[in-house]
Amino acid sequence: MYYQALIYIPYAILVNIFASYMLTEYWLNVILDKYVGDEHIITRYFDHIVVGGGTAGIAVASRLAENEAHTVLLIEAGPKVSLLHDIPLATPMFQKSPIDWKHQTESQLDACLAMKNNSSQWPAGKVLGGSSRINFNIHVRGHISTDYLSWQSEQDWTKEDVLYYFNKYEKADTYNRSPNIKQFFSHQPTHVTPIATAILKAANDLDFNTSFDMNNDGFHISRRDGGSFSLTPVSIRTGARLSAEHLYLKSRKKKNLTVLTNALVTKVLFKHNFEANGVMYNRFDQVYKVHALKSVVMSAGTLNTAKILLLSGIGPANQLKPLKIPVIADLSVGENLQDHIITGLDMITLEKSLDLTFKDFISPINIFKYFFKGTGTWTHPGCEAVGLLQLPSDKKNYSVSSPDLQFMLLPYGVSSDAGAAYFNHLNFKNESA
Ligand SMILES: Cc1cc2nc3c(=O)[nH]c(=O)nc-3n(C[C@H](O)[C@H](O)[C@H](O)COP(=O)(O)OP(=O)(O)OC[C@H]3O[C@@H](n4cnc5c(N)ncnc54)[C@H](O)[C@@H]3O)c2cc1C
Repeated sequence: MYYQALIYIPYAILVNIFASYMLTEYWLNVILDKYVGDEHIITRYFDHIVVGGGTAGIAVASRLAENEAHTVLLIEAGPKVSLLHDIPLATPMFQKSPIDWKHQTESQLDACLAMKNNSSQWPAGKVLGGSSRINFNIHVRGHISTDYLSWQSEQDWTKEDVLYYFNKYEKADTYNRSPNIKQFFSHQPTHVTPIATAILKAANDLDFNTSFDMNNDGFHISRRDGGSFSLTPVSIRTGARLSAEHLYLKSRKKKNLTVLTNALVTKVLFKHNFEANGVMYNRFDQVYKVHALKSVVMSAGTLNTAKILLLSGIGPANQLKPLKIPVIADLSVGENLQDHIITGLDMITLEKSLDLTFKDFISPINIFKYFFKGTGTWTHPGCEAVGLLQLPSDKKNYSVSSPDLQFMLLPYGVSSDAGAAYFNHLNFKNESA
């Protein structure tokens, strides 16, 4: 018994070394950025200001800077991070780390009962690259009829318009130069356990469609009987994470694009109390103002975009007035939040262990394979297979309906690492162990 516990020690040591490394790197970055960084803004005027250097903000800022006559400022609250953060297998370690906003839900009466304080963890990237730097790399485009075409008020765009932009960003900045260049994402995970093969075989035996490319077959479920399963397409290149930062900022630096990190935007500024013409931000306890001649783009993520707008006086007047925030526009900001919940089915026992174990994590062979070949367990994206399922209904037109359920195969659970990381990261109560 004690002997079995002992073999987890090297894994626990590795996890703690990595956690300490992340913390040290974070503070080092903050100190360097404060005292020797070259990112002081000399000019106080830019053509465009983009708030939030995350998945969307980086793409928008980079595209705006394609016009070399325009100057663009991208402002990010978090720091830049190093190459070790690109290891896909390290992804769960980013939650509750310094590069996570560490949002928590309110304590729930009827939900999150296994979590401390009945509160669910709500991670979001606080780092250059945003949540694309801490997410699980699954690259599923979504469902064209319901996720994209139904968002328009009139016939503003067609399926072909949407596909054009998918192709453009998937081939990143190279699209216009060489349309045939390989897409950035890999059509299947770089590493899978035998569970993935078994699940796909089981899905096939049950007559689900398993010979389906989720992103290139028109991206709606080509359904035989209620759903499709496939290996997961992932945003991983040569075994390492490919975030928005890698795609747009590292691959092509633009002189007219200034990227400011460790700068927290607190307010949008207005001209004549109507037209947004700048932002106020806080950097190392100093408050600054910077102005935009053409546009201010808000892309600080779902929660923080709404928060900054509310602090700036854009939101429901009946909420702003009691807080003495002058109302600039009475709009329903902060409503209609949509997110997906995830729940684990961590209770399946098999005759033998097929999932990822701590031994895979610490194996020197796997470490060598990652750094020198871009292969092996360290390139594991987290999710090996995806199933999109529709629940039976007489009223549905299956060819246009979006899926009701997404099934994700994650070959590890809170027990895989003997409580060294996942259990705490997911905020479980001790009694749920
Ligand atoms: C743990 C996790 C796993 C996920 N897994 C997947 C997956 O496998 N596949 C998938 O498709 N999607 C996944 N997602 C969702 C996906 O990553 C997000 O939907 C997407 O990245 C959101 O992009 P965004 O630009 O809206 O926000 P973000 O990428 O979060 O960017 C917002 C940026 O704004 C910055 N910011 C916020 N407030 C301020 C401020 N006041 N001042 C300055 N900057 C600010 C933030 O630091 C951040 O960098 C996952 C998300 C999480 C959190």
